[in-house]
Amino acid sequence: MIKQYTERLSDFMGSQGNFEEAQVIILGVPLEVTVSFRPGTRFGPQYIRSNSYGIEEYSIDQDRHLEEISYYDAGDLALPLGNLGESLNLIKKAAAIVFRSRKRPFFMGGEHLVSLPLIEAAHAVYPDLAVVHFDAHADLRDDYLGQHLSHATVMRRVSEDIGPENLFQFGIRSGSREEVAFARSKTHTVFNRVLEPLIDFSHSFNPQRPLYVSIDVDVLDPAFAPGTGTPEPGGISASELLQAVRALHGLNIVGADLVEVSPPNDLHGVTSVLGAKIIREALLSWW
Ligand code: MN
Ligand code: MN
Repeated sequence: MIKQYTERLSDFMGSQGNFEEAQVIILGVPLEVTVSFRPGTRFGPQYIRSNSYGIEEYSIDQDRHLEEISYYDAGDLALPLGNLGESLNLIKKAAAIVFRSRKRPFFMGGEHLVSLPLIEAAHAVYPDLAVVHFDAHADLRDDYLGQHLSHATVMRRVSEDIGPENLFQFGIRSGSREEVAFARSKTHTVFNRVLEPLIDFSHSFNPQRPLYVSIDVDVLDPAFAPGTGTPEPGGISASELLQAVRALHGLNIVGADLVEVSPPNDLHGVTSVLGAKIIREALLSWW
């Protein structure tokens, strides 16, 4: 058969099997409605997939290979772009199917607002859910230009769902005075730094407790991840974020997302290929 000489480049590398049998699910969520600066995040999932073929399925740092875990790339959600309410409903419904079956999803955005319906769906299944959030931006505004639902308000809405004391933010280096005051008084927020405080967190956090991880790619310095809509100078390196992902090993991570990858703003696909490596390391480390 010709199959032995060919490969499908439309799935995330190493994806096998089917939804029913896989324990780990990759799902693209190409929502882009409220992006405030440079557009393009709707193309994130397909570029992360195609760039995943440039890296190995084997991780030297973990001595693990993607063939050792059972995961399935379920494709992208078909969203009615422009209709925010319907898009959020559809995302929440689809995520609920994954969480209710106790599968472990890794979602690829899309803008950061996707995390709201994803985390709400996770919270409905895991009542004592906590959230780890990597970002340059606090995303804690109560509204943005009058909008209650925006990628700039997403973690404020999440904090209303899970309780602000259950939100753990790392790497934050941008926000309004009001957001910073909210973060200092209500949430657990680490400004600027990521790896060392995250290691402390991973040692002290209850390893049984369900945890959702949301990674906004702009937590990285724009030198490492130029392909994003609201780049913020002064961020961490690619190797620090990869170490941070691996530092969460051993915790009960029930779902995760990587958001705000914007291929039209990228240089030579470096942000998409880094996104693919972040997902590879997460899959191999967490599941
Ligand atoms: Mn951000
Ligand atoms: Mn964000």
